[in-house]
Amino acid sequence: MASSSFKPSATPANDRVGSVHVIMGPMFAGKTTSLLRRVNSESNNGRNVALIKSSKDTRYAVDSVVTHDGVKFPCWVLPDLSSCKLKLGQDAYDKLDVIGIDEAQFFDDLYDFCCQAADHDGKIVILAGLDGDYLRRSFGPVLDVIPLADTVTKLTARCELCGKRAFFTLRKTDDKQTELIGGSDLYMPVCRQHYVSGQVAIETARNVLESHKIKIETSTGTASVV
Ligand SMILES: [Zn+2]
Repeated sequence: MASSSFKPSATPANDRVGSVHVIMGPMFAGKTTSLLRRVNSESNNGRNVALIKSSKDTRYAVDSVVTHDGVKFPCWVLPDLSSCKLKLGQDAYDKLDVIGIDEAQFFDDLYDFCCQAADHDGKIVILAGLDGDYLRRSFGPVLDVIPLADTVTKLTARCELCGKRAFFTLRKTDDKQTELIGGSDLYMPVCRQHYVSGQVAIETARNVLESHKIKIETSTGTASVV
């Protein structure tokens, strides 16, 4: 991870002190809702706010952030954060007090952007994103930003199977691709117990399906086995 933004002599352009706030957790934990609430309240307090989301996520409307329960907020859709100034224009960027970033795990330049925006440009950066993938491994750059953060909030969801607190995201399919974008059709929030039993169930289901497939293909005289 590059950390080229350290410039001891630079002072914030407008004497404002910036900050970085991280909202993370599994899918369906209300991260976007929490981000929108904070961005909205900053906006109601008269601060100049911009919301950014990744162009990788096209599940919902392209020019607004939409929560799983349908609340909308207009936003900039960008391939990376370094294009933010260019897209908004220097003047509009300078006037910003608060920058909200949704689905922050998709931005590879998150660390450098947060350094620049908070340390040198005096912005309040509030970002929401996944801390781990469906295998509970560190995913994307969100964890890298924690050493830069003023506050870190880890949200939890409700386990879809038992209603207890859910810390993890279980993928319902056996697709092995790490970055598989989807909603409740592909993923569900689960507690620790159901994460473990769910992984076993998916593995078993795949084995059953595969053996079934082989049987069908054999019985219909198909030679090839996928
Ligand atoms: Zn459970």
